[in-house]
Amino acid sequence: MTRILLVEDEENYREPLALNLRRDGFDVVEAQDGAAAIQRFEAAGAPDGPGPIDLVLLDLMLPRMSGAEVCRRIRRTSRVPVIMLTARDAEMDKIAGLELGADDYVTKPYSYRELVARVHAVLRRTAEDAPEESVLTAGRVTMDVSRHEVSVAGKVVPMPKREFELLELFMRHPDRVLTRSQIIGRLWGTNYVGDTKTLDVHVKRIRAKIEEDPSSPKLLTTVRGVGYRLVV
Ligand code: CA
Repeated sequence: MTRILLVEDEENYREPLALNLRRDGFDVVEAQDGAAAIQRFEAAGAPDGPGPIDLVLLDLMLPRMSGAEVCRRIRRTSRVPVIMLTARDAEMDKIAGLELGADDYVTKPYSYRELVARVHAVLRRTAEDAPEESVLTAGRVTMDVSRHEVSVAGKVVPMPKREFELLELFMRHPDRVLTRSQIIGRLWGTNYVGDTKTLDVHVKRIRAKIEEDPSSPKLLTTVRGVGYRLVV
C-alpha cells in the first residue's frame, strides 16, 4: 500500500485531503508541522514502524519550521518523492522548492483530481528510476516482482494481488518475525479496522501454494501469539 506523509498545518485543508486520499486507497500519515513531519517520516521507516513513506505532500507555509526546511532535512537521508503545496503565484516558492529537491509542486487552490494525478505521475516516475532488486528468492520460491510472477520449484503459480503483496513483504524481510499489526499496517494501512482473520486467510492460501506440506509449514511459519516468519 502506498504510504503518503501529508504535512499541512491547516486542518481545513488537511482533513478533507487525507479523507479523499484514504478513499482512493492510500495510507495517509498526517503531520501538522515540520517537527512532527520529520518525526513521523523517521518513525515510519524504523524497523518497528508501519513501513517507509512512499511520498511526501508538503505544504510550504508551515509554522516554525518551513516546508523548505522539512524538505532539506528529508533530503539528507532520503530520496523519497516530495510534492510541494505552494501558495498561489508564489513563483519564488516553486523555484526554491524544486531547488531544494522537491519533485513537483501544486499551487493552491488546487483541485483534488489534479493533485492525485501529480501523485500518480511522480510515483510512476520514481518507480521507473529505481529498478530495485525485483527478483526475490527464498528456498523453492522465486518472485519476479516487476513481472508479478511467482514460481515454486520452477513452476509458475497464480497469485492474486493481496497474496502477492503479503508474500513480497515476507520475502523482503527473510528470517524476521513480522507482527500481525506490522503486516496489517503495511498491507492495509495503519487505519485498518477490519477483521484480522483476513490475514490468516491470506497466509493459508499462500501456504497452499508454496509449502510442500501446507499442514506443516516449514517456510512461512507461525510465531504463536506474535505473527509470522519466513524461514530461509
Ligand atoms: Ca500552511
